[in-house]
Amino acid sequence: MKKTIKVKDKEFAHFISEHTIQRAVKQIAHQVNQDMAGKAPLFLVILNGAFIFASDLLRKVTVNCDVTFVKLASYEGTSTTESVKELIGLGETVKDRTVIIVEDIVDTGITIDHVIRMLKAMEASEVKVAAMFFKPDAFQKDFGIDYKGMDLPVDFVVGYGLDYDGFGRNHPCLFRLI
Ligand code: 5GP
Repeated sequence: MKKTIKVKDKEFAHFISEHTIQRAVKQIAHQVNQDMAGKAPLFLVILNGAFIFASDLLRKVTVNCDVTFVKLASYEGTSTTESVKELIGLGETVKDRTVIIVEDIVDTGITIDHVIRMLKAMEASEVKVAAMFFKPDAFQKDFGIDYKGMDLPVDFVVGYGLDYDGFGRNHPCLFRLI
């Protein structure tokens, strides 16, 4: 296991092991399996970062479910202070469904707050959030994270699906910027 890695021009130090991450994924799957018994949730995976978490999580989920993938487009220069995000790739499948948003990391919470609002506007019957990582000291919103892997400090991290300028997603553990 490498103690440091270089991603493009920056150095990152080993932070959270693959073992610790996988243990957290197992716990989340266990919770989901208990809560979702008898329901058929739709997992809505936010690309690109959540693809590894989703792949690990979904293989441990035993309830009847389906999976879809979306990307978010941000638009700057609108009348709001936050950029407006649009879901790309989502059909009409969410009406009257229990939807579990699968996200790699919740930082300010702005992204997922938008997604929750959109899903509610599309008449999802229930919206849950599964996030592998959460930065409580950066969080600005008030939605709950129903299924959370672990809290992180406000450091920039890469690995386990998270990138720096497109690179670094492939590492099975987490590294933080030195
Ligand atoms: P939020 O809208 O919650 O502020 O930001 C969520 C998004 O910001 C995540 O999906 C992720 O793409 C990005 N992000 C937030 N913190 C980090 C980080 O430490 N490392 C990386 N690579 N991306 C992050």
